[in-house]
Amino acid sequence: MRLPIADGAATRAYTARLFREHRRPLTKIAVLHTLAAVAGLAGPWILGRLVDAVSDGTTVGYVNSMIAIGAGAVLAQTVLIRFAQRSSMLFGEMVFAELREEFIETVTSLPLSTVERAGTGDLVARTTNDINKLQHAVRFGVPRVVVAVVTITLTVVASLLLSPLVAVAMFVGVPSLVLVVRWYLRRATPAYLRESAAYAELNGTITESVEGARTIDALRLTRRRMGRVRADLSEAFEAEAATLNLRTVLFPTVDLTFVLAPVAVLLWGGWLASNEHVTFGVVTTIVMYTYQVTGPVWELIFWLDEIQVAATSLARVVGVQLVDPDREAHPAEPEGADLVAQDLRYAYREGHDVLHGIDLALAPGERLAVVGPSGAGKSTLGRMLAGIHPPTGGSVRVGGVPLVDLPLDELRGHVALVTQEHHVFVGTLADNLRLADEHADDDALRRSLEAVDAWSWVEALPDGLATEVGSGGAALTPAQAQQVALARLVLLDPHTLVLDEATSLLDPRAARHLERSLNGVLAGRTVVAIAHRLHTAHDADRVAVVDGGRISEIGPHEELVAAGGDYAALWHSWQHE
Ligand code: ADP
Repeated sequence: MRLPIADGAATRAYTARLFREHRRPLTKIAVLHTLAAVAGLAGPWILGRLVDAVSDGTTVGYVNSMIAIGAGAVLAQTVLIRFAQRSSMLFGEMVFAELREEFIETVTSLPLSTVERAGTGDLVARTTNDINKLQHAVRFGVPRVVVAVVTITLTVVASLLLSPLVAVAMFVGVPSLVLVVRWYLRRATPAYLRESAAYAELNGTITESVEGARTIDALRLTRRRMGRVRADLSEAFEAEAATLNLRTVLFPTVDLTFVLAPVAVLLWGGWLASNEHVTFGVVTTIVMYTYQVTGPVWELIFWLDEIQVAATSLARVVGVQLVDPDREAHPAEPEGADLVAQDLRYAYREGHDVLHGIDLALAPGERLAVVGPSGAGKSTLGRMLAGIHPPTGGSVRVGGVPLVDLPLDELRGHVALVTQEHHVFVGTLADNLRLADEHADDDALRRSLEAVDAWSWVEALPDGLATEVGSGGAALTPAQAQQVALARLVLLDPHTLVLDEATSLLDPRAARHLERSLNGVLAGRTVVAIAHRLHTAHDADRVAVVDGGRISEIGPHEELVAAGGDYAALWHSWQHE
């Protein structure tokens, strides 16, 4: 399964909404650019007037005053362009920032099950590649297209007003231009997409080969890897050649049109002027307008191409918003802190249940250890009990309310899942902690760190709580990062914790130190500990043995050992290891 991609209509609706929401700045930009373009029209017009005046006989004074007006127009155009550019750039930045924020908001509230099913690769590609492509188009493309359209329109209108008869010759290149551009645009997007896919593939292969060099050597895969690199290279070469072919048709044709149009105006206008239908001045002006319009036309073609590519990225970015939420919050106040699972079922893939109807009731303050062979469904059960995924059958309720009925931030105040993943976010240490409770004051932060035995090293940091951490900032050890995560839990203050130590990567010494921190967090809470190692199980109030998606035994450690069932066997074998 992949994340959805918005269709043309949805993407257009989204773009239209963006434009509607920014009507004011857009109007301002259009007005400023229109004024600048009008000032830019003055030069050729003055030159035309001068040509006519000189051929009719004129005074030095007239020539001087016309030149002064022209200089004034150039000055005005410069100033106008400066402000117009500034506001278009600001506009681009603003729209892009909004897009990005909206996207991040969507991404962070995506249902986890959807993200997992779609794989994080797709999401990462959309957050990086697609956003980058959009960034370029939104920041530079949209403003440039506005400028180009305004300039082209005004210049053509001015020429038609001066002399429609002469101006028609401007359009001589339009049919070939339209044909070649349409030909190009239809092929460009797939060709460039193929090109970037080819490079992505090549990069991937090379990076993998370099990172896995020893394995490749050990398994004698060198020849096969070289073959893959060669195949990727030739695909990249072919993709590059294909886009090059497109350009070798587009560029000369467009350039030819740009030479053709002024020549046509010159010849046709020259003939008209010789026969005294128009003045030579008018022809001069229109020839110059024809030259002037080629720049913006080029720019338009260039950006049409880029914007077409950006539109595919936009469709992928907007598509993320189309993911259906996996839950809907219903206002309900849980009564009490008891967690109860009833006939709980879950399937990652439809028809393949991983949990087959689990019944489990946890008393507040109880500690339950969950043990069982790997693949039995322990982690899945843990995620269900923490409300990460909505169950596909049965329910998990806290104080009588289904977990999935609670709004996410409220849910986290009741049950939280603790894994040994410890991501440190870029920002200050205080920012990292406030993710759990944005209103916590420094005192509360300090207390949370004290609770996990971390205050001493935080205090010793150069800026204490205000120290920048995360990539580029002060480096935290994995154990410290884990403590920060635990301090967040203290701030969050849920009454029930589900601990999944599945991903334990810490060395035993750090783990022992962390156990103290962890105990600080566990005190007074209901705890479900998924024990992939048995020694944690024996301290629990009850032990549940999960096997094949069912609870096969449940009870206090001593009782289960005495009963001589699966758990007893596991326990004995573990002790003799
Ligand atoms: P345990 O924690 O006991 O090792 P898990 O809950 O991780 O077991 O896995 C239970 C079963 O669910 C396994 O068969 C596993 O392959 C499957 N499973 C776990 N996670 C996923 C997933 N994200 N997508 C599909 N199947 C999964």
